[in-house]
Amino acid sequence: MLTSVVTGGAGFLGSHLCEALLGRGQRVICIDNLVVSTLENIDHLRDDAFTFLNHDVIEPIAIDEPVDVVYHLAALASPVDYLRMPLHSLKTGSYGTHHAVGLAKWKRARFVLASTSEVYGDPQVHPQPETYWGHVNPIGPRGVYDEAKRYAEALTMAYHSQQGVDSAIVRIFNTYGPRMRSYDGRAIPTFLRQALASKPLTVFGDGSQTRSFCHVDDLIRGIILLAESSEHLPVNLGNPDEKTLLELAETIIRLTGSTSEIVFEALPVDDPQVRQPDVTRAKQLLGWEPEVALEDGLRRTIASLRHEARVAS
Ligand code: NAD
Repeated sequence: MLTSVVTGGAGFLGSHLCEALLGRGQRVICIDNLVVSTLENIDHLRDDAFTFLNHDVIEPIAIDEPVDVVYHLAALASPVDYLRMPLHSLKTGSYGTHHAVGLAKWKRARFVLASTSEVYGDPQVHPQPETYWGHVNPIGPRGVYDEAKRYAEALTMAYHSQQGVDSAIVRIFNTYGPRMRSYDGRAIPTFLRQALASKPLTVFGDGSQTRSFCHVDDLIRGIILLAESSEHLPVNLGNPDEKTLLELAETIIRLTGSTSEIVFEALPVDDPQVRQPDVTRAKQLLGWEPEVALEDGLRRTIASLRHEARVAS
């Protein structure tokens, strides 16, 4: 039986990854300090093959059994979180990545770093291939997230080239699906929360900035394929279907049948104008392509939110 460690495993993507790995018959050790998540996301994973460790990866990680893959997802990924805890963001990206990749080195395990499209910053190249080095403001408010990930990528490559760690880097573009936190400040959960409560949808700027949204099932499938490959250089995973934020808001109003209106608010500092992955490498190396269309994925997410609301009431 393969054993995987998932840091940040109680978070949105981490909990889906733990579930998918258990579904593949693996043993899963989930590490999370619950700084921004709760055990609710992994409550349903009651399985002898599943272990939860409440641990901050800023501190060394000790695991007393063989490990085959370390997936390092722990991070303050949402703007509301890293703006509130900037130092924790930098420490998780630096000390946390040292400890996670160090664990992989010690166990001779494959190491998969969850990086981000934010390493490209406000991109001057569109769509973004992995060869583009980015345009990031290190001292702006988002620098504590973007630079933490850029440092984590540099560290991962150094462990690979100097110490022979079998590493991989996935640059994740905006992903959505069930278990996103309604108040995490990201566009889809915010619009869904507002639309379902018949409140105005708050679009930043004039809504002409673009994003590309990937359904969580597609993303998790891609991450596992990457872990199973022998690739070491960064690989973009995301859905190239690009939409403006205004289009997204209108689609969510239509799909929820909401009566909400759209209101416009000031653009956040250093908010990227465009974002679209070039997924050619993922197609060539992994045979991976997104399969869930945005409207279909949104319908599934809305159904899951409505189900949760019924259970809670
Ligand atoms: P999330 O906030 O839902 O999950 C992150 C988890 O990490 C949380 O459970 C949190 O408690 C945990 N964590 C944070 N600091 C920790 C620490 N020091 N020690 C232990 N646990 C810690 O975020 P997510 O959306 O699931 O993102 C997962 C990973 O994917 C992150 O690395 C993020 O940067 C990356 N990513 C996500 C997206 C996306 O669209 N969701 C896009 C790009 C990159």
